[in-house]
Amino acid sequence: TVRVRFAPSPTGMFHVGGARSALQNWIYAKQQGGVFVLRIEDTDAARNRPEWTEGILDALDWIGIERGGYEGPYFQSANAGEHRAAAEKLHSGGLAYYCDCTREAVQARTGSQYQGYDGFCRDRGLGPGEGRALRFRTPDDGATQVVDLIRGEPTFENKLIEDFVIARGDGSAVFLLANVVDDMTMGITHVIRAEEHLPNTPKQQLLWEALGARPPVWAHVPVVVNEKRQKLSKRRDKVALEAYRDEGYLADAMRNYLMLLGWAPSGDREIVPWSVIEDEFRLEEVNPSPAFFDEKKLRAFNGDYIRALPVEEFVAACDPWLTGTESIAAPPWRPEDFDPVAFAAVAPLAQTRIAVLSEIVPNVDFLFLSTPPADEAAWAKAMKEGAADLLTAALAAFEALPDWTADALKAALEEVGAQRGLKLGKAQAPVRVAVTGRTVGLPLFESVEVLGRERTAARLRDAIA
Ligand code: GLU
Repeated sequence: TVRVRFAPSPTGMFHVGGARSALQNWIYAKQQGGVFVLRIEDTDAARNRPEWTEGILDALDWIGIERGGYEGPYFQSANAGEHRAAAEKLHSGGLAYYCDCTREAVQARTGSQYQGYDGFCRDRGLGPGEGRALRFRTPDDGATQVVDLIRGEPTFENKLIEDFVIARGDGSAVFLLANVVDDMTMGITHVIRAEEHLPNTPKQQLLWEALGARPPVWAHVPVVVNEKRQKLSKRRDKVALEAYRDEGYLADAMRNYLMLLGWAPSGDREIVPWSVIEDEFRLEEVNPSPAFFDEKKLRAFNGDYIRALPVEEFVAACDPWLTGTESIAAPPWRPEDFDPVAFAAVAPLAQTRIAVLSEIVPNVDFLFLSTPPADEAAWAKAMKEGAADLLTAALAAFEALPDWTADALKAALEEVGAQRGLKLGKAQAPVRVAVTGRTVGLPLFESVEVLGRERTAARLRDAIA
């Protein structure tokens, strides 16, 4: 059976590119009736942190690769014994040798630029010891051909592959070897991973062969780049899946978008149910060239997903931003001032207007704050000549209304405006700022209806004063 693995290193926030690779592995396993294995590559003790492992597990859960639905998590650090044994086996079989050369020494021998190890210790017969690395003896001729589902069958000249290090002076295996040994012991048949690892592939395939196993099929999925065609980096770009989650991206939108990096479903569609992606995705069809992670497009996508939610689901999805969580800041109002009935009344209006869920807060805060948020620029913009007169007239007209409905409020303000030669849009502007504190927001009359007669009147009076 097909066995794939996702093998992240817990050395930082979980990256969108990693999420993409995980999903591709996940779907491939599902399509092949295979098994998805999660292996945490936690051998870099200096850079690992347990919270990053938790972050990976949570992020995978969030995009639908749930704990309990896969094999693992295994931890690479638990397999140090197997890694060492493999290194010893290669040494005793003559396929690896100890080397005490420093980089400077190699460079002094080979000229100014370091161009890989020169093989100096190949036949010196050194034993293990402090400061001695174990190097794999790569073949002098021939070529290593790998089978890559996305890139065909790239071939690497063996004489260009240096004798690379497989274990450090203390006997511990380096990534190249540990990763292969784990894949071997876990029976991995297909290694689907990021393009960044393509240069490691011939070395790793040589290790598989040297350890007497049949190498896996590889698939190197494209590097993910920003609008300047630079590889996404955590210093420059927003790459943490968690950051998107906390900003209010929906998991369904996110995973749909991630699957479009280098691939598309049939019929010019982009937004499709996950079941369609699971049916139609073909690893072999993934485009090998760099995939542009277009945050603007993702945002628009997310807006579409938000609008497609049944309104009750939208209301429920907003909850973390309305109440705050460990990672999402608490809203600006006091918890006891939140009114779920008022929120439910405006939720459908907000649903069509926001692209990410965090934007719910500035759209509804006027309902739950005792005074509207103070925004000097908004006031300066709206409260021009004649604004006080208009607000006074609007207050009188609103107070006289028998029915406090959006339609009646609108008709009343239309009339107040007309008496002053103002179109409704112009007449609305100062009222909106007086009542909501902002120049843009939800439809005004519905907002005022929900805010209620007393609070609206009080805010208009405050603005006039
Ligand atoms: N731990 C490696 C990484 O995160 C895994 C590489 C692989 O998938 O083989 O890049």
